[in-house]
Amino acid sequence: MKNIRTCHPVDIENPLVKSMLEYMSRVGRETKGGIMSKPKTTARVIVTYQCNRSCPGCCNTHENSVRKIEDIQELLKYKEIVITGGEPMLIKKDVIRLLLLLRSRGFAGKIYMYTAFFEDDTYSDILLDRLNGITFTIHAEATENDIVVFKQLSNIIATKSHLNSRLFIDSRIWDRFQESQRRFSMWSEVRKLEWKDECKPAEHEELAEFLL
Ligand code: SF4
Repeated sequence: MKNIRTCHPVDIENPLVKSMLEYMSRVGRETKGGIMSKPKTTARVIVTYQCNRSCPGCCNTHENSVRKIEDIQELLKYKEIVITGGEPMLIKKDVIRLLLLLRSRGFAGKIYMYTAFFEDDTYSDILLDRLNGITFTIHAEATENDIVVFKQLSNIIATKSHLNSRLFIDSRIWDRFQESQRRFSMWSEVRKLEWKDECKPAEHEELAEFLL
């Protein structure tokens, strides 16, 4: 019999005590401040660390505690997958392959992608057709070319009725889009983005790395 710290000695080899201790330890891990945390139903998956921008305070540069996924099979247990980076559009052929592979393995959930880059070509078209949604962010350092790209993408989004499309614009450059506001109606949702230095995923999301 081994003693643990309670008012009375407890036999931790006893199956009943053992299962109670396991339960208490699991609940302890899953709760924070006494409130049950949400189950992780969404995998937010970093597929590349490459990026064509260098936004100050980017999580991409100081994230070092991400769980690495070795086998695509691990992704199948989630209800939704959010592809992120880095900039996934820089490796769009690989992302298309990933989508095909996930579907061929039976993944039936929604697949979304975060991006801040777009080129109007066949591969982008194939990718948009295979995603359930995208979130396109216009960062504070946007150039005139980024605004041209935003207009192009808005016109394409308007033709993709299956796609949930979210447009995030950094609040520091919101005014530059005053005259483009008629394009906002082409998107499912438009949001003014406040830059946050914290890079925590949402409560229901698990951040993971699956490099392509
Ligand atoms: S676009 Fe995103 S990943 Fe790239 S530098 Fe900016 S915040 Fe980081």
